[in-house]
Amino acid sequence: MTADTVQIEVQQTTQSRLQEVDFDNLVFGRNISDHMFIAEYKNGQWQDLRIVPYGDLSLSPATAALHYGQAIFEGMKAYKNEAGEVLLFRAIDNWKRLNKSAERLCMPQIPEDVFMNGLTELLRLDAGWVPSQPGCSLYIRPYMFATDPYIGVKASDSYYFIIFTSPVGTYYAKPPRVKVEQHFIRAAEGGVGATKCAGNYAGSLYPAKLAQQEGYDQLIWTDARDHAYIEESGTMNIMFMLDGKLLTPHVSETTLDGITRKSIVAIAEHWGIPVEERRISVAEIIDALKAGKLEAAFGAGTAVVISPFATIAYEGVDYPLPEIKEDSFVNKVKNYLTDLRTGKQEDIFGWMLKV
Ligand SMILES: *Cc1c(COP(=O)(O)O)cnc(C)c1O
Repeated sequence: MTADTVQIEVQQTTQSRLQEVDFDNLVFGRNISDHMFIAEYKNGQWQDLRIVPYGDLSLSPATAALHYGQAIFEGMKAYKNEAGEVLLFRAIDNWKRLNKSAERLCMPQIPEDVFMNGLTELLRLDAGWVPSQPGCSLYIRPYMFATDPYIGVKASDSYYFIIFTSPVGTYYAKPPRVKVEQHFIRAAEGGVGATKCAGNYAGSLYPAKLAQQEGYDQLIWTDARDHAYIEESGTMNIMFMLDGKLLTPHVSETTLDGITRKSIVAIAEHWGIPVEERRISVAEIIDALKAGKLEAAFGAGTAVVISPFATIAYEGVDYPLPEIKEDSFVNKVKNYLTDLRTGKQEDIFGWMLKV
């Protein structure tokens, strides 16, 4: 498919809900924008590309995704600059990653023009939903799932690809208390940890619930074999500042190749800050905590951007982390990313796309 063969039929809503939204008090995931983009995969082709008013789907109870979990998603954001133009951050990377997830779960590839044209058409139509308040953005949820009405275990022959969006505010939460998980795992070598498949998140709920009952907000996942190496935190990548260096686990089969993570790495390198992407043992981090040398530990991901931890718990001991200072790397990189995404900072990396 080439760009000119992507025909998107547009059915505009007659009842916009935009006036009902309180843009000064946005709650994550509460408001969904007026329209959604849908493409259907049938007979080996993506077809019936359309933008329609956001609303319920009608599906067979035998819908394959509901039984065997062929379901993958992405999370990305759009921003407004001072001129009111809508900007996308590294959208191509989300498209590529969705296709990587699709390959692992035996789902069809989505052509670049189906993804990008669907996305940009949708954003043009719902541009009014992109917040301009500081710290706010439009969260974008592209996802694909199997739709064969068939309950034999096999790769489905039909799929839906949908994009809808939701205006979101600053994901303000107080710095989380995180616990190094020593029993449950998020991912194992040979598994699906490197994909954003639905089941990964279902499987993480129970260990997260147990940690919450112990008074923690989130987990630090460790390797499946020895629980000796750090992988991610919750549904975010994890990063540390130690001895003036930025440390983060290297991307592997068991970690998600996060776009926030790799953007922070690129910015740090641009600023001349030493970066180490490698195996990071729990022992190394706990030793640094005990010696009072760990400057910061934080999660990195689209929803929260950067989430510095207040406490890391290991083997029943809580190790507090220092407060993040105004002139720290963590603060500076967070502000830099915000400015880049809202057009206040020159886009030297070529990450931004005007819709
Ligand atoms: C989505 C996700 C991330 C962060 O990726 P971003 O592209 O930065 O949003 C990290 N870990 C997991 C498990 C994720 O699902």
